[in-house]
Formats: sequence, C-alpha cells, structure tokens
Amino acid sequence: MSKKNAGEYFGALVFNESTMRDYIPAPSLYAWQECVRSRSVLPEKIAADIADGMKRWALEQGATHYTHWFQPLTGETAEKHEGFLIPSGQDSFRMVFSSKELIQGEPDASSFPSGGLRSTFEARGYSAWDPTSYAFIKDKVLCIPTIFCSYSGEVLDKKTPLLRSGEALNRQAVRILRLLGDEKTQSVTCNVGAEQEYFLIRKDLFLKREDLRLCGRTLFGADAPKKQELDDHYYGQIKPEVTAFMQDLNEELWKLGICAKTEHNEVAPAQYEMAPFFTGANLANDQNQLTMEIMKRVAEKHGLVCLLNEKPFAGVNGSGKHVNWSVSTDGGENLFSPGSTPADNTRFLLFLAAFLKGVDEYPELLRSAAAYAGNDNRLGGQEAPPAILSVFIGSELEKVVDSLVSDTPYVSGGAGSLAIGRDILLQIGRDNTDRNRTSPLAFTGNKFEFRMVGSSQSIASPVAYLNTILAQELKEAADELEAAGGGKEAVSALIRKMLREHRRIVFNGNGYDTSWVGEAARRGLKNLANTAQTVPEYASEKNIRLLTENGIYSRKEIESRGEIRVEKYCSIITIEARTLAEMVRKGILGSVTACLASYTHGFAFEKKQAEELGRLGDHLYDALEKLEGDIAKLDECGGSEEKLALCSDVLTADMKAVRAVVDQLERRIDSRFWPYPDYTELLFSI
Ligand code: ADP
Ligand code: MG
Repeated sequence: MSKKNAGEYFGALVFNESTMRDYIPAPSLYAWQECVRSRSVLPEKIAADIADGMKRWALEQGATHYTHWFQPLTGETAEKHEGFLIPSGQDSFRMVFSSKELIQGEPDASSFPSGGLRSTFEARGYSAWDPTSYAFIKDKVLCIPTIFCSYSGEVLDKKTPLLRSGEALNRQAVRILRLLGDEKTQSVTCNVGAEQEYFLIRKDLFLKREDLRLCGRTLFGADAPKKQELDDHYYGQIKPEVTAFMQDLNEELWKLGICAKTEHNEVAPAQYEMAPFFTGANLANDQNQLTMEIMKRVAEKHGLVCLLNEKPFAGVNGSGKHVNWSVSTDGGENLFSPGSTPADNTRFLLFLAAFLKGVDEYPELLRSAAAYAGNDNRLGGQEAPPAILSVFIGSELEKVVDSLVSDTPYVSGGAGSLAIGRDILLQIGRDNTDRNRTSPLAFTGNKFEFRMVGSSQSIASPVAYLNTILAQELKEAADELEAAGGGKEAVSALIRKMLREHRRIVFNGNGYDTSWVGEAARRGLKNLANTAQTVPEYASEKNIRLLTENGIYSRKEIESRGEIRVEKYCSIITIEARTLAEMVRKGILGSVTACLASYTHGFAFEKKQAEELGRLGDHLYDALEKLEGDIAKLDECGGSEEKLALCSDVLTADMKAVRAVVDQLERRIDSRFWPYPDYTELLFSI
C-alpha cells in the first residue's frame, strides 16, 4: 500500500476536469463544457485541442498506447491498443494522436455479438468518443470511453442506450417540472451508486476446479457443515488477507477516480461488498465495469480469485449488484426526495406515482434486465429477491399512498409529520426505519434500490430501462396535464389516479416468504421465474413501442438484442453442462472406484459403504449418460427456440440430477480420493 495520502493520488490516472484545466486552453475547455451541458456536437477545432492536451498528459504519465474503450453486448469491455508512435525519418519516430484518433475508431467488429445486425461481409464497426465520460490510463494505455455501432449505424453496445435513456428522461422530466411551475431547472439527470458483491477464494484451490475456471461457479459441492447460520460473517471483522486486498483495491480505484467508499464482509462466508459513492449514471456505469476488472486483477496479485458470478456456491447467499438510482435537477434537487414544503411533496408524489405506474406497466422489461443464466440460480434463493417485480416503499409512505387512494386522512406513525386531509398538499414524515432487504426494488428515502441485478452484469441496461419507464410515464403525465390545462387540481387528481390504478405493485411484506408468490399471482403480478421465461416478454410489442418511442432503440436493435440474450444464455448453459459431464467422467467416477478399491478388510462397515457407493455410482452413471445424451442433442436443434427449450428445461434439470448424486457421493468418499477442493476448503480457507 502506498504511504501517500489518498487525496494526493485520487484521480491521478483520469483526465478529469481539473486535469483538463492544466492541459487544454481555457476557451476550448469552456466550449467542451458547454457542449456536454447542452448535449451538442463538439467542433473539430475544440476536439483537436482536447486530443492534444490528452496526448501530452498521457505521455507524461508514461502511456505508450491509446484505445477506444467500449462496452459491446458481451456485457464486458473491449479494447484494442494502438501505439502513439509512428516512424518519422529513418531512425526516429513521432508520437501522434489527433482529433481524428480521439473522435472515431474503426475496430474490426466481426467477432462481437450483433444478433444478425451486421452481415459478415461488412465487419467494420465504429467507435465514437463519448465526451461525457472521462478518459483514463490503465496499464500505460490511454483509454477513451466510446460508444460502438455498426457500419450502418445500428447500436452494438450497452453505453449508447444508457445515454439515450438519460436524454429521454431529461426531456420529459423538465417538461413536467415546467408544468409544476419550475422555470429554473435546465436539465435533469440520474445518479447511480452500484453496490458490488463478490466472493474471494484462494487461487490455488480455484485452479483445481474446472467448474470455477470455466464457469465461474461450482457445479456441485456438498454443503459445508457450517454455512451462514451463525450470521458471524456479515459485518464481521475483516481478515488481514482480505484487508490487504481491499486496501490495494481502494488504491487502484481511487487512482482511477472511482470513489470506493464502503467495504464489508457480506452474509455468506468468503463474500464481501464494495460500494462507491454515487455519481452520474454514465460515469457510474463506466466505473462499475472498471471496478469489476480491477477487483479480479488485484485479487490475483494477492493469490486470490475474485468471483463475480451470481451464485458461485449453492446453499449460501448469492451475489447481487444493488443499483441505487435517483433523479435530480441541475440545481441539485433530488426529485425522489420528500421535501419540507407541501409543494415539494406534490412534485415528489408525482414522480413517485409515475415511477410506480411505470414498474407496474413494464415489469417484464425490468425483469429482463436482470435475466441472466447466473442470476437464475440466485433470484428466489437464499437472501435474494424473488423474480416477481414489486416495489417496497416503507410503511410511512404506504400510509400516504393509501390515504390518497382511499381519500381518507393520513395519520402518520412517525414523529414530526403532519396529518393531512383531502388536499394533496401534505408534509410527509420521513421514514428511515424500514430496511426491507427482501424486495427487488426498494425505495430507500430518496432513491430506489434495484436489487434484482446480478453481480456480474453490466448496470447499463437496468439503468437505461429505469430511466426509460420513468420518461414514458412522465411523458404521459405531461400530456394529460397539458390537456387538462394544468393547475394544482389536475396534478392532484392525476397523482391519485396513478396511485389508485397501480397500488398493486406496492408490496412492503417479506418477499422471501413463499406466500408472496400466491399473493402476487392474486394481484396479477407476473412471476417470470427464469431467463427463458423472459425471452418472449422482452421484445414484446409493448416494449418495442416503449423503447422506440423514447428513442432508445430501433425495432431491429431490440430484436437483435433479444437474439443475443438467447445465444448467450444457451452458450453459458452448454459450457456448464459440458464442464460438469467432463468433471464427472474424468474425476468423480474414478474417485468412486478408487475408494471402493480401498476397502480391503471385509469389515461390515466397509461392506455397507461399498454397497452405498456402488448404488450411488450407478445412479451417477445413469444421470451422466442422460446429460451427455442431451448435450449431443444441441447439435440437432433446428432453431434458437428449440435450443433455448433444451437448455432451459432439459440440460439444467439434467445438471441438477447429476449434482444431487455427486453431492451425496462427496459426503461419503474418503477425502483422499475426492479430486476437488470441497466447500469447506473453498469457503473457509482465508
Ligand atoms: P446501504 O444500502 O448498504 O445501506 P446506502 O443505501 O446508504 O447503503 O448506499 C448505498 C449506495 O447508494 C452507495 O453507492 C451510495 O453512494 C448510493 N446512493 C446514496 N444516495 C444516492 C442517491 N441519491 N442516488 C443514487 N445513489 C445513491
Ligand atoms: Mg443500499
């Protein structure tokens, strides 16, 4: 760990505004700020000044290469390095980086997922500088955040829709604010803080298991005698090895301007969390991608492996990424914050009602944003939100909503709040007591926390969809208010109507309770239990209309994304199935035989054990043959629908069946013969 004060190196590797001031002529810097603020095109001359400043700064930091850093539909980041140097004369070279290199790149895009958007003869893709996020240096490479699209202009990345959704939200939110009499707000943006959960395990153990190496999670493993029942890990004392990792991680993140703030042990053994201080959505998304990368690298340096998979170990907590999301004005006012004046509260209630309506109308889209093979193993499991979308708003706010819905007086349970009558101009008591951890989408005082999202996933789509549904509902609200000629009465009536019609989406109870599934069904809320079930819902006409009308995607872009989701899901399941089959055939069957062969004395207990092992071994063989037979069917699948059904319904069930027997064998086989580190070793070795 560096002995320097963190303040001295925070952001040292980022070409942020304060650094830009030292490297870019003031008029060009102002012009850039103005372009970012007004979302207009940057003149070539300004871009040239920025490129020049960026180059000088990067070279001073020891950078040798630059790259357009983008976020293809793999959900990861991509980079192709170009050296700054070009030959000049016989024995010398120059360092070149101009506005041309800054603004646009042309990576060969043929191997990125496009869902049929790009034909193979036109493999070119374009990357274009995103001047609203900061360039940074990673491994002596100047990384320029860019968007990524095809030759014909179709979007092939995760960043562009996020940026577009921010614009849609800005347009509609400013419109509503004007209708509420706010003349000063010029723009509205959304802020995001993504809490990142992860596991750390020893690298030497990791390397001994193909499932961890190839799939990022264990495909079998009997429960350790101790799991998380003592609650002794959550917020427990952090072990020195982990502290060393966290200190290194913080230092790397701080250098990159990522404000890593909170760190603690999570619920499961070997599980941890890092939360950064929230920032604008675009930057938060870039930073979360970087955070995941840096976590993995720093772990390696410490002889550890950082697992970001949503469910690396069955039977204990999985890992999520709680996406904290709020919306605020350029004047710094949080629009999800109940205010101290009745007028502020009207605004708050309008935004709240619009959001609840949005979640109730587009739950499939939000559910799809969290649909991922890894997350299928987590949602609905230990300490994880269910797959049913609902919103937790806390008991105080629920009282407010109910009083508005039923037109009865609001009687606060909390201190310092006022009773209200028929008028909507109320003062709302703050409710900081409820910390419902069981809800997929919880209101936490002045922001929503979307907890469904998986730990390995990009936050770009989840945030883009939150933005878009709110933009859509604000648009409908603004249309209605304009038609009604505006005025307090109309606003009040609209809020009541929205809350009345969408009250069912509010659920403050225990989302982990099995009775919620029945209750949700009675309310007509959908339970899309796994990724496959979200597939037909994702590119539905309703969602296509929402996303095209708000300028997020074209129809073709949505449909291609739908295809990519299916392809990716099937690839993950196929790799898992093959890995499991191989581990059983090459590792586990042999261990059964070796263990059986070790019983030599003919003791009664040996006979009993041998019988049991023989029986389980036979079961395992049958289950393995079924799995292998079904894997072979993948090649015969006619289309993606058939393949999806095979993966989702058949292969996952086959894997479960194999696992059940393997776990029983693991409990019985002498550890001398068991070829893989077990859950006790994996979870309790640091
Ligand atoms: P916890 O959920 O663990 O109790 P908090 O809710 O206080 O912790 O904060 C979790 C995350 O929410 C942090 O990343 C924090 O920066 C972020 N956050 C706090 N306020 C906001 C906000 N207004 N908008 C977006 N994110 C926020
Ligand atoms: Mg939180």
